[in-house]
Amino acid sequence: MGASPIRIRNYIGGALREPASREYLDDFEPATGRVYALTPESDEADLADACVAACEAFAGWRATPSAERARLLDDLAARVEAEAEALARAESIDTGKPIRLARDVDIPRVSANLRFFAAAATQFASEAHAMEAGAINYTLRQPHGVVACISPWNLPLYLLSWKIAPALAAGNCVIAKPSELTPMTAWLFSKLCIEAGVPAGVLNILHGTGPRIGHALVTHPTVRAISFTGGTVTGRHIARDAGPLFKKLSLELGGKNPTIVFGDCDWEKMLATSLRSAFSNQGQVCLCGSRILVEAAVYERFCDEFVKRVRALRVGDPLNPDTEQGALVSKTHLEKVQGCVARAREEGGRILCGGAQLVLDDERCARGWFMSPTVIEGLTPDCRTNQEEIFGPVVTVQPFVDEDEAVAQANCTPYGLAASLWSSDVRRCHRVAASLEAGIVWVNTWMLRDLRTPMGGTKASGIGREGGAEAMRFFTEPKNVCIDYA
Ligand code: NDP
Repeated sequence: MGASPIRIRNYIGGALREPASREYLDDFEPATGRVYALTPESDEADLADACVAACEAFAGWRATPSAERARLLDDLAARVEAEAEALARAESIDTGKPIRLARDVDIPRVSANLRFFAAAATQFASEAHAMEAGAINYTLRQPHGVVACISPWNLPLYLLSWKIAPALAAGNCVIAKPSELTPMTAWLFSKLCIEAGVPAGVLNILHGTGPRIGHALVTHPTVRAISFTGGTVTGRHIARDAGPLFKKLSLELGGKNPTIVFGDCDWEKMLATSLRSAFSNQGQVCLCGSRILVEAAVYERFCDEFVKRVRALRVGDPLNPDTEQGALVSKTHLEKVQGCVARAREEGGRILCGGAQLVLDDERCARGWFMSPTVIEGLTPDCRTNQEEIFGPVVTVQPFVDEDEAVAQANCTPYGLAASLWSSDVRRCHRVAASLEAGIVWVNTWMLRDLRTPMGGTKASGIGREGGAEAMRFFTEPKNVCIDYA
């Protein structure tokens, strides 16, 4: 008999509460396939309570000095740091990601997000425009009121904190909805909020499904702005729901990011980084490079050496610190990714390695949702495999003859989130970076993040940007005040 499942609660009005419906959803551990927790199936009744709590808290929170808001965010960061190991373990169990990744990336980024926006709370400033005719304009940037933060399953607490920290720093009250697939660390975080004394109603966390509580949140009249990270199809739904209601929207959506390799690059660094950018978190990072474009002269060499390294990746129990590739987040997602590989075969792709589900020779994880990292070649740039986001441990490789062809291939998808570019020719790097249709271009690196920089995509990868002042501007409403002193 295993332990009975952990019962997760909503966080509403400063307290942990059962869902009004008393209904729960199963929360699975991807590495074992077992149900280990129960997630509240929240509905309109929970949302109504959260809206009342958030509205009641707003006047007090917006009037709280920014230094006090900053102190509270810093306090939360310190509590996350003190609980880092427990949070990393919880994130690894809930998502299937290697604990090493949760320890080194996810949880440190949560406290970094909180500390970064704690500082932003006190340093955010607005503009003034003097007119020669004897008038001055100044722009007030005031919080919206109640805002929604909706986040996905791939980087659960990392992305939740990336949204709620600027929203709170700017003086809004928040209703957050984590993914139903990965509720655990948001729940643990709500307990830290209670310990830190976050005023009741300032932050509320509702668990449940996208179509039910997510949709209700997006369309609720109390909610003035929505910050969403997730898939492009969901983003389109939300834009359709929220558009006629004139809600402020930030949409961070999917990607089909190119990694562009020229023969003159730092070969060793490129190989090691491309491996990471292709397969970090089992390829379930929106910024992963899923199409590798390689200069024809070095294409064969690249494929040989890259595939050798991919085959050597250690797939295993996410809780083992040596594991490099964990489990995929759900059975449905594993089946979707396998379907994408089957379609790639039909489209004429040759599987250079991987391509199938992996059954681990390990008692604990024998029923987990693992897949061997997969590399595919021989596909055209316009086939579905190269056009649609797969969001799993699957990359394609294709050769290009010159810079123009590299740029054309890089830009030929509906997406425009990120790109990474490898060359030691400085002029070429600037030229190609300027030509790429992407919100973020990394040159001779990947995932090097400065939290002050704009983060987000163009085309079907979204609307708006997060990060630094962009996030503070999104979470505030500008009001121009014009004074005539002539
Ligand atoms: P989804 O779009 O399926 O879900 C994202 C969030 O939206 C979840 O909390 C989900 O709830 C919720 N949701 C679903 N339907 C609705 C709805 N109708 N109204 C309101 N909310 C809804 O994305 P995934 O969780 O599958 O995440 C993977 C996707 O996220 C990938 O496409 C990836 O590229 C993208 N992503 C983008 C990033 C970026 O910065 N651009 C960063 C990270 C990921 P539930 O899960 O409970 O159904």
